[in-house]
Amino acid sequence: MISTLNDSVATLNGIGPKKQLVLNSLGIKTIADLLNYFPFRYDNFKAQSLADLPAQAQVTLRGVVLDSPNLFRYGYKKTRLTFTMRVENAAVRVTFFNQPWLKKQITPNQPLVVYGRFDHQQLSMAGMRIISNTTNKMDPIYSVNKQIRQATLRKLIQETYEQYHDQIAEIIPESLRKRYRLESHQQVVHDMHFPKTLADSKRALRTAKFEEFFIFQMRMQLLRIRDHQFAGVQINYDHAAVAAFIAGLPFQLTNAQQRVVNEILANLGDDSQMNRLLQGDVGSGKTIVAAIAIYATITSGYQAALMVPTEILAEQHANGLAKIFADVPVSIALLTGDTKPAVRKEILPRIESGELNLLIGTHALIQDEVAFHNLGLAIIDEQHRFGVNQRGALRKKGDSPNVLTMTATPIPRTMTLTAYGEMDVSVINELPAGRKPVVTRWIQENQLSNVLPFILQRLTQRDQMYVIAPLIEDSDQSEMQSAEATFEMFKRSFPGFQVGLLHGRMKDAEKNAIMTAFKNQEIQILVSTTVIEVGVDVPNASLMMIFNADHFGLAQLHQLRGRVGRGQKQSYCILVANPKTEVGKKRMNVMVETNDGFVVAQKDLELRGAGDVMGRQQSGQIQFKIGDPVADLVMLSYAQQEARGIINDPHWTEKTENLPLVKYLNDESLNDSLD
Ligand code: ADP
Ligand code: MG
Repeated sequence: MISTLNDSVATLNGIGPKKQLVLNSLGIKTIADLLNYFPFRYDNFKAQSLADLPAQAQVTLRGVVLDSPNLFRYGYKKTRLTFTMRVENAAVRVTFFNQPWLKKQITPNQPLVVYGRFDHQQLSMAGMRIISNTTNKMDPIYSVNKQIRQATLRKLIQETYEQYHDQIAEIIPESLRKRYRLESHQQVVHDMHFPKTLADSKRALRTAKFEEFFIFQMRMQLLRIRDHQFAGVQINYDHAAVAAFIAGLPFQLTNAQQRVVNEILANLGDDSQMNRLLQGDVGSGKTIVAAIAIYATITSGYQAALMVPTEILAEQHANGLAKIFADVPVSIALLTGDTKPAVRKEILPRIESGELNLLIGTHALIQDEVAFHNLGLAIIDEQHRFGVNQRGALRKKGDSPNVLTMTATPIPRTMTLTAYGEMDVSVINELPAGRKPVVTRWIQENQLSNVLPFILQRLTQRDQMYVIAPLIEDSDQSEMQSAEATFEMFKRSFPGFQVGLLHGRMKDAEKNAIMTAFKNQEIQILVSTTVIEVGVDVPNASLMMIFNADHFGLAQLHQLRGRVGRGQKQSYCILVANPKTEVGKKRMNVMVETNDGFVVAQKDLELRGAGDVMGRQQSGQIQFKIGDPVADLVMLSYAQQEARGIINDPHWTEKTENLPLVKYLNDESLNDSLD
């Protein structure tokens, strides 16, 4: 009896329980899994021309044997078989190690095809085997383990293919196959396993990657529409009040802000739950967008919450939003780990009663004792600083509240398309008018004295400066610059100016006092560790110097740099670094060359490589078998676009119900991918 592709491999002839386990260990459970277990490379046994051989590669050469082979024995059971072969017009010395039996197969004047490692300089080849059948053969090489041999797996796949290829069903709808010149899935399976030429295998690989991305994106889009189907809080906001609020702002929204505000308001106003990621480069003005969403929510009688990762930021937002909401009826409370018990005791019941309609704070917001009256909108700023559980905990403070997550750490396209694939994404891709890009320079440590006059000149013009050092205090464990030593150094070098010190080991009250002094221009030079990294907004600061810049990630450097360039003045960022590696130097140059956080993020991912462990972690542990979400970014984004198009089409299930994909997508694994 013939099985279907979704049946277990155990139903195949010759697969007993033992073999089944071996196949399972390779991730092969069903017959379809087996057919889609593609080789990771091919050995090319098509004879190649001497002229276009890749250096030091395994190659196949066709020639004529010139002399009788010599067999040498040496060491313990070691042999060396040598002869000369004419290939085109060259004499190539061929050596086979430890295969004495080949001697019988080699006679002068005999045509011969040999596979092995070729050395251009010596015109010699370390032979690996003699090829008897050379008709354009590409041998698939599979990833196997100790329990199964290459040849066994190859044979199994071949037999299975012969028996089952008729059942291989299509994955990609025909219209898309035409648009992207993709092959049928049957052709892909055939050519991935048994290509006649390299070109065959390349073409098949291209479609196979698209298939993999497309299935993934269909899954993500299904999650997305499923989220949308959950009834969420519908915010019937007061259109006139919101319009008046926007008109009353001290500046005009940029086009990008306006567009994003519209996207968010539309989401709030419908009855589905919003799950939106707002990305905007540092200084692009996300806060005001959040404020508009908060205000809209409050006009409809619902509460809003804003959660941020640090006390400094919570304080800053509470002050800033109090100003923004000065003329409208919004009552704000601030709740952090620092909030005095008495104050806290007074706030909590007023949140629960709904008297307070905006709660701003740190992780303190998600403690058990915090209960809302009716949370309609939860905003999480700098979302990457929170874990999935913390984000989820805020969400659970309401009954399906709308959720807006914000990030100023630009997320590379690769990751928005993978790790965040099920979210709606809004991007503010424009800075408020009049901003000048930060000029970034990279200097070596011994060039420091060259830039001091420049710094002095800027300080004399009342500019303010941040100086960043990676460590708090000097350490015998590290050669890196400490904030304390830097603080002393700047005090000595710039005696006429006020220098402040800020680091994470200081008490919050102390930190806040220093930040306030810096804001009020009582301190001109602020030496700090990376505690000032996120969100801090002091527009008069226009100069930044970062020590041991190569020690930081590019995203972090970009965040730090974002503290300057916030006012009308030209700002400067000086990176001090002596990177030891080529990649380290390239990373510094990325910072010098671009101010665009999205470019920084994508370059960062490229430099680290898709295979990099960190990259894997950051991309949400999504592992593709054949597609590379960094290198194949363009294809990945087309796959998403098409998956969205199909799913947004009200007839998509009918149009695609014959695709095995739909069944595949409806299985329980869909639930596993929900957090
Ligand atoms: P971020 O996106 O980094 O959180 P902020 O919201 O802190 O940026 O905004 C940075 C600065 O730009 C703030 O001082 C803010 O008042 C100002 N700003 C925001 N939007 C505009 C705009 N449309 N025009 C002028 N200034 C703006
Ligand atoms: Mg911000």
